[in-house]
Amino acid sequence: MQEMMRQAAPVLERLNGAGFEAYYVGGCVRDAALGRPVADVDIATSAQPEQVLALFAKTLPTGLQHGTVTVQEGGHSYEVTTFRMETAYERHRRPAEVTFIADLTGDLLRRDFTINAMAMDRFGRVVDPFGGTADLDAGVIRCVGDPELRLQEDALRLLRGIRFASVLGYRIAKSTWRAIVRHRRLLRHIAMERVGVELDKMLAGPYPNRALALLERSALWRETKIPLLGVGFDAPSCDQVPDWSGVADTNNRWAGVLLAARIAPEAANAWLSAFAFGRCRVRRITNRMKLHHAAIESDATGDAAGSRASWTELVLRYGQDDAQAWLALIGQAPGLAASLPDEAGAARLAEWMRAMPAATLKELAVNGRDLTALAGAGARQGPWVKTLLNELLAACARGDIPNDKQALLTAAETYLRNAKELS
Ligand code: ATP
Ligand code: MG
Repeated sequence: MQEMMRQAAPVLERLNGAGFEAYYVGGCVRDAALGRPVADVDIATSAQPEQVLALFAKTLPTGLQHGTVTVQEGGHSYEVTTFRMETAYERHRRPAEVTFIADLTGDLLRRDFTINAMAMDRFGRVVDPFGGTADLDAGVIRCVGDPELRLQEDALRLLRGIRFASVLGYRIAKSTWRAIVRHRRLLRHIAMERVGVELDKMLAGPYPNRALALLERSALWRETKIPLLGVGFDAPSCDQVPDWSGVADTNNRWAGVLLAARIAPEAANAWLSAFAFGRCRVRRITNRMKLHHAAIESDATGDAAGSRASWTELVLRYGQDDAQAWLALIGQAPGLAASLPDEAGAARLAEWMRAMPAATLKELAVNGRDLTALAGAGARQGPWVKTLLNELLAACARGDIPNDKQALLTAAETYLRNAKELS
């Protein structure tokens, strides 16, 4: 048993001590069996929510009507959920009713895939009524029960199926696959935010190309609000999809997939925002895309006389971090470097960036306070400070002024004098 699960043992023990059944369930049992790191430990019990609340000192009534109480124990939080059945799913997503039940098997029956429908008691004994262990061994994603019904009940399972198949490198059982293809249109009932979470997990996994191939082959993307993954390549098998697994960072995988799909940065921005990715993350991804387009359109990646200046300007515009990340992307992603005019281009850009005396305001040898002091007692704070700092940074990055306080202040003085004469 994994450490994370062992730490939760006192919670199960206390429930057992009070005469209730209690088990580890779902993802943690699956991941423990696979020897993968366990993300969160979920517990299922025969105790009613009020009984769980009464048994533990620190609790949060997370989702009482669904039977879930968060129990805090030993510095960790666990979701403790009463055995339940779900009925009357509404709009192919949420069950309208949950009924608390007395036995574990009924609770496992409501779960999506056999590998997610296993439980384990605190002594490590596994309860596996639907053959989850055999499917883990064989590497198969299979619905619990009739896939036709299970996928119609909750269309998020369409994506979860593809997600588990791609992250674990598994195949999808025939009947489950047929049901995914048949009911692909139901995905439009699923909130974009949930879609985004699943796609993100697919792309972050060790076999992102498998996810893209499955999305493509099932035509899931075509029937839904996510056309982005299908544009730009038509790949019936996963070896024909560009392999993104060599790209280290998930944001770069997104940037690469979106670029390969020929999605414009503005459209990418709209998609990623609809997926409810944070603003900062959306900017990181789209910056790298914009940088890619700008670098190819400008002479920055060539060996023309002005190339270095063009590259410097791009680094300043998009920031050193994203410029660095973009260089990593074109180095790691199949096909993207081919869009550069010459192969040595990337190495040259990296070298130029390393040689920049300063590429961010933080690295610049003067700061805003130095400039206000220079302007004298009567000078007002204002946007001019930022403008001037950026001018100095640009000149410094180009190599026109050394990154030296005195040299920068002298240049600033000239700038301020000129500005005064002009006004
Ligand atoms: P991960 O945490 O790695 O994303 P997980 O399988 O643990 O994967 P959770 O969303 O944490 O996924 O859900 C915990 C368990 O609840 C699952 O293992 C599964 O048994 C059940 N479950 C989650 N979502 C669904 C669903 N849409 N339909 C049926 N069962 C589900
Ligand atoms: Mg989980």
